[in-house]
Amino acid sequence: MVIYGQGRKVSIMNQEIQPKYYQAKVTCNCGNTFTTGSTKQEIRVEVCSKCHPFYTGMQKATRADGRIDKFNKKYGMKG
Ligand SMILES: [Zn+2]
Repeated sequence: MVIYGQGRKVSIMNQEIQPKYYQAKVTCNCGNTFTTGSTKQEIRVEVCSKCHPFYTGMQKATRADGRIDKFNKKYGMKG
């Protein structure tokens, strides 16, 4: 570890501890998009709540809308 001096070291640490926080636009391979809190402005994912096998499987398995809503809240999905 290289220490450049007290002031400089502190400023570097601040950058690492407090990254910028965005409302990131998430784009899925299936074409679905949604937003989520992230340190990145844009995120690409391979699966999302619309096309994830577990999620779509669960959607077919249960007709209770309440469970879907709980799932949506848990993973920050909307719609
Ligand atoms: Zn998807």
